[in-house]
Amino acid sequence: MERESIGAGLVLHKLGENSWLDASEVERVLKLRHSGDPARVHEVLAKAREMKGLSLEEVGVLASVGDPSLIEEMYAAARYVKEEIYGHRIVFFAPLYISNICGNECSYCAFRKSNEGLVRHALSQDEIAKETEILINQGHKRLLIVAGESNPGGTKYITDTIATIYSVKNKNGEIRRANVNIAPQDVETFRTIKAAGIGTYQCFQETYDRNVYAKVHLRGKKADFDWRVSVMDRAMEAGIDDVGIGALFGLADWRFEILSLMQHIAHLEDAFGVGCHTISVPRLEPAHGSEMASAPPSPVSDEDFKKLVAILRMAVPYTGLIMTTRENPQMRQETLALGVSQISAGSRTNPGGYASEEKFDASQFQLGDHRNLEEVVSDLAQMGYMPSFCTACYRVGRTGKDFMDLAKPGLIKQKCGPNSVGTFLEYLIDYASPDTQAIGEKIIREEMSHMGDKEADVSERIMRAIRKGKRDVFC
Ligand code: SAM
Ligand code: SF4
Repeated sequence: MERESIGAGLVLHKLGENSWLDASEVERVLKLRHSGDPARVHEVLAKAREMKGLSLEEVGVLASVGDPSLIEEMYAAARYVKEEIYGHRIVFFAPLYISNICGNECSYCAFRKSNEGLVRHALSQDEIAKETEILINQGHKRLLIVAGESNPGGTKYITDTIATIYSVKNKNGEIRRANVNIAPQDVETFRTIKAAGIGTYQCFQETYDRNVYAKVHLRGKKADFDWRVSVMDRAMEAGIDDVGIGALFGLADWRFEILSLMQHIAHLEDAFGVGCHTISVPRLEPAHGSEMASAPPSPVSDEDFKKLVAILRMAVPYTGLIMTTRENPQMRQETLALGVSQISAGSRTNPGGYASEEKFDASQFQLGDHRNLEEVVSDLAQMGYMPSFCTACYRVGRTGKDFMDLAKPGLIKQKCGPNSVGTFLEYLIDYASPDTQAIGEKIIREEMSHMGDKEADVSERIMRAIRKGKRDVFC
């Protein structure tokens, strides 16, 4: 993409900007419809098992598979990739909604400006501290700051929020990584936010289909498709090298969206040497005052939703896949096996929702999973998963390309194994009930039994330190 710097970090995007997003190429690939040829599907699945990712055309092959036995084979390949790279580890986070005030008009969202029945509030720094303390006391170490698009305090409100979150400490608890999901910014603002110490910057394109985009984003800055689709270029230019992209499934054809997500990643790799750190796969949920949220224009069935998770897992094996509490426990469980690597738990989407309660008339959308953090941790541990609260890479600066350089040859495992065991043990000692502690200790022993000697030694050292009372020990 051609970019021209015009000083003060501002970048003028020239005509032909975002030409990496090529809808006609996506349409062409989707029309090929190779799924009639099981031999081609088998070839692609064999390549997926090599864990080097898939091309646009190969993703197209998998996206058109409809035969139930081929779908099962696809799921088996996705499970293989997931287990080889992530083992049983699942990273936890919680969203922290700080404001539901918004100047945009996204037809599917309860926060949209015209939704007069919504109870609006932007949290004060004291309220943010209170919410943070509650989440710390549940055992969280990672938060995702979320806000509507016109927060009254501007950039300072966001940087103050980050500072507040990191300043809250309670006993052994603290937030070690604050990710941010806010509206697209210019490069200068992103630099300021980066300097405040954000982890990942997240922003979802919602839909990569320009026509659908125009129909559902009626007014406000977000109506500008190009401003939004180029957001990660500006974030990367500002030095934020962990970025999270996503699409809101239910707005347009899911196949079109995942192929476009592939184009987005390829573009970031070409332009900045590193793709995205995470992909989120929100599916439209009912929202206060929105008819569209309950009747999505292009609904994605549960089967297709599982398919798209499996395909993304194989297409970009080292990119984190995020599943939120929008989905119900069963869907979360099934997609964990197929490729999801990070989940939220115990979430509220109304500002102040942790200190008070979930309130539909102030929330962004309706949740599908209402279990608290400990219930999710305990359920997952009983299923053999290894809950992780790790934030090590961010803390030692292993982000962006440095992270991918370690992840792609498979070396990151040597870090993730011991760090997940260590942070889970911290959680068990500091926050869990005796029952969860017993289940957790069993999972830790099982996890250790699958580790190589070096990894097991490092894990033992970290665990000894934690049992003696040290915290925040990682490799
Ligand atoms: N306001 C900013 C924006 O739109 O990018 C940042 C936060 S917005 C609150 C976070 C995300 O929530 C949106 O990007 C959208 O994908 C998702 N969302 C909005 N309405 C939803 C709904 N009804 N169901 C599920 N997800 C929804
Ligand atoms: Fe505002 Fe974001 Fe909701 Fe759109 S999705 S109305 S920008 S909060």
